[in-house]
Amino acid sequence: MRLSRRILVSGGAGFIGSHLCDKLLAEGHEVLCVDNYFTGWRRNIEHLVGAPRFEVMRHDVTFPLYVEVDDIYNLACPASPVHYQHDPVQTLKTSVHGAINMLGLAKRTRAKIFQASTSEVYGDPNVHPQPESYWGHVNPLGIRACYDEGKRAAETLFFDYHRQHKVRIKVARIFNTYGPRMHPNDGRVVSNFIVQALSGQDITIYGDGSQTRSFCYVTDLLDGFARLMASDDAFIGPVNLGNPVEFSIRQLAELVIELTDSKSRIVALPLPSDDPRQRQPDITLARNALGWEPKVALADGLKETIVYFRTLLAS
Ligand code: NAD
Ligand code: UDP
Repeated sequence: MRLSRRILVSGGAGFIGSHLCDKLLAEGHEVLCVDNYFTGWRRNIEHLVGAPRFEVMRHDVTFPLYVEVDDIYNLACPASPVHYQHDPVQTLKTSVHGAINMLGLAKRTRAKIFQASTSEVYGDPNVHPQPESYWGHVNPLGIRACYDEGKRAAETLFFDYHRQHKVRIKVARIFNTYGPRMHPNDGRVVSNFIVQALSGQDITIYGDGSQTRSFCYVTDLLDGFARLMASDDAFIGPVNLGNPVEFSIRQLAELVIELTDSKSRIVALPLPSDDPRQRQPDITLARNALGWEPKVALADGLKETIVYFRTLLAS
């Protein structure tokens, strides 16, 4: 096997995808970044354009793609509720048609393929924390279903391509991840709160802020991706990747205010429908099978992210 691999990253201009492109290039691989820029940003990858082993292709994964690759990371999909609900039909197509097209490519090229699945497959969970064996509690008709059910159907496709066509798959269920390169208008809670705090706007808590999330810093997540991709072919997942330390959204708001030394006030806005009450990964499987666990505490990751947004807003 060649040490340098040709690796396709779909969604490579997005928040996580752009960090993944950096990491794979730094490891000496060739990277083909595929993105339609729906929520991605050229700025995230502009430092890579012109690098000898980096290629970027504007392409929508709902259409077939014919390229030659060794590995595929399928990250293409809007991840923020605001954005994935903006065009729910396209969101569902991206998950389902995108998975079919990327799996078809993996089948033809015999590539190993990684799927960026999500904690949303558990819906509004009534098992807490969530182990991989939990089948979830998803409203199939609600406004989050385009994302949740799309990702669930994508997992089904991955497992069927594996069983039927022997495609080598790796399925990660990613819990809330944050860090530099989130878009300032992304709409997710960490970027919203930091941008609001730095620009003196009100901090918008949806509902009473007692709902919980567990926040993973992007470098920890990428370490999990690398371990999963390098694991034995027999280990296909799904495996939870997330930080098991749980915070309420109000605690997050207070921490962001403290770390930015902001004068912003906290205001309450209506809670969107089907917003999960609680979310915390059970990472026993990742610990045992991959020797993985997150290392970056929320306050430390937030400090790095605040530096990024401070610089961005100043420019
Ligand atoms: P992001 O929105 O920053 O990145 C998604 C990227 O996919 C963007 O660059 C976007 O332009 C691209 N894209 C969307 N539709 C596409 C299409 N049809 N064809 C080609 N490109 C398309 O989000 P992110 O946080 O970087 O998330 C990356 C992946 O990880 C997503 O699949 C998401 O569902 C998954 N995930 C992320 C989190 C998280 O907390 N960040 C949690 C769970 C799962
Ligand atoms: N949220 C909030 N204020 C915001 C954005 C989000 O209170 O400005 C809440 C949202 O209602 C949810 C949590 O923060 O309970 C996480 O939201 P996010 O959109 O980041 O991701 P989710 O985990 O819901 O997909």
